Amino acid sequence: MTAHQPDANFLKEHNARSLWHPMAHPGDSLANPPTIITGASGVRIKDVDGHEAVDAVGGLWNVNLGFSCQPVKDAIAAQLDVLPYYSIFRGTTNDQVIQLAEELRAFFAPDGLSRAFFTSGGSDSVETALRLARQYHKVRGEPSRVKYLSLKKGYHGTHFGGASVNGNANFRTAYEPLLAGCHHIPAPYTYRNPFNETDPERLAQLCLSALEDEIAFQGAGTIAAFIMEPILGAGGVIPPHESFMPGVAEICRKHGILLIADEVITAFGRTGSWSGSRHWGVQPDMMCTAKAITNGYFPFGALMISERLVEVFEKDESGKAAIGHGYTYSGHPVGAAAALACLAETKRLDVPSNAAARGTQVFNGLKSLQDKYSLIGDVRGGHGLMSALELVSDRTTKAAIDKKTINTIQEVAYQNGAMVRVSGSNIILSPPLVLTEVDAAQILSALDAGF
Ligand code: PLP
Repeated sequence: MTAHQPDANFLKEHNARSLWHPMAHPGDSLANPPTIITGASGVRIKDVDGHEAVDAVGGLWNVNLGFSCQPVKDAIAAQLDVLPYYSIFRGTTNDQVIQLAEELRAFFAPDGLSRAFFTSGGSDSVETALRLARQYHKVRGEPSRVKYLSLKKGYHGTHFGGASVNGNANFRTAYEPLLAGCHHIPAPYTYRNPFNETDPERLAQLCLSALEDEIAFQGAGTIAAFIMEPILGAGGVIPPHESFMPGVAEICRKHGILLIADEVITAFGRTGSWSGSRHWGVQPDMMCTAKAITNGYFPFGALMISERLVEVFEKDESGKAAIGHGYTYSGHPVGAAAALACLAETKRLDVPSNAAARGTQVFNGLKSLQDKYSLIGDVRGGHGLMSALELVSDRTTKAAIDKKTINTIQEVAYQNGAMVRVSGSNIILSPPLVLTEVDAAQILSALDAGF
């Protein structure tokens, strides 16, 4: 066996006995062997048995430009030859990361963001934002602001800080106790919410009132930041009413609380806009990015920082603003070269426009499936290429679907030409943003076959 001709049986046997998978039970690999992906091109993946399917997962919300983005591959290969690594800890930097920071500053200028702090991925970007939020208040003389607020059902990665602001027990319980001082408010999730409110605008107002109540209860002077995804992703693709994020921004500003937009999946076009914050007309104080910044080809991320923080950190003369935080791979020159090529391609192809057009096609197709199949309780999306089907065993009681049924739907959809992702009772679709009309139709017909 060579690296290029993997033997299917060898791989299947060895996967179960030699590695543990993220977000999976370690004892599950033998009974439910994962699909072994051995190749990909365009928006299609190929498995070890030679079966091909449109990747409606988009890698993991990150391969926005597909698997054949040659300029990014070339940039990585070229940079590996010139400077494969050097640190940007105090004292050294590199040419690629400087150019990238300049490009990102221009790209995110409409979001009011003017500095980049580089990381190795989404969880790192979130951790950096949470830390800098506390430091910001310490530097400006309000050290009592240490708590964080976030949304139930939100997902902010797996570091202890991110897990502490996560709003899903699946990612918390086994690792408790988490960080103290993290409090959650209800998400604007129209299908299920504690207010039994089905009107999205009224629900947004109720959630905003809950935020005001929580701030009053905790004391505004104890809260460092509110972190939210502009559209909740991993929690089941939950787009809020358009009034929600602007409402959060206004409340945060009024109480001196920083607003952190976790845009690890929404930045760079996924919502049909260049960023999720811009989609809602909001300028956050910090924005976490990763994933599509390098099209998934290199682990990389950037926390974007607004002038509000720049003013405080860069003018500090006390020394308190020295950043005691960073990663070996912060500003990696190969990642930076990949990100530069990605940004250029993202702009050249105007990917948000395609995401919006194909997103509408997918969303309408999913609505038609809901008319056909009573297992589909809720269809969410309509903002670019992120959508979800929430499955129920009974539409009246909204009882959750059983695991076996949803897994079978996924498997049959795969055999019919589309890889989709199952998360709890949701089937989540986050395909590459370069999807064509034909690719989108293939995803829909494969799903149709699954029901
Ligand atoms: N934040 C959000 C909104 C995410 O969706 C994710 C990952 O899906 C993360 C943070 C964590 O990113 P990573 O898995 O790159 O650490």
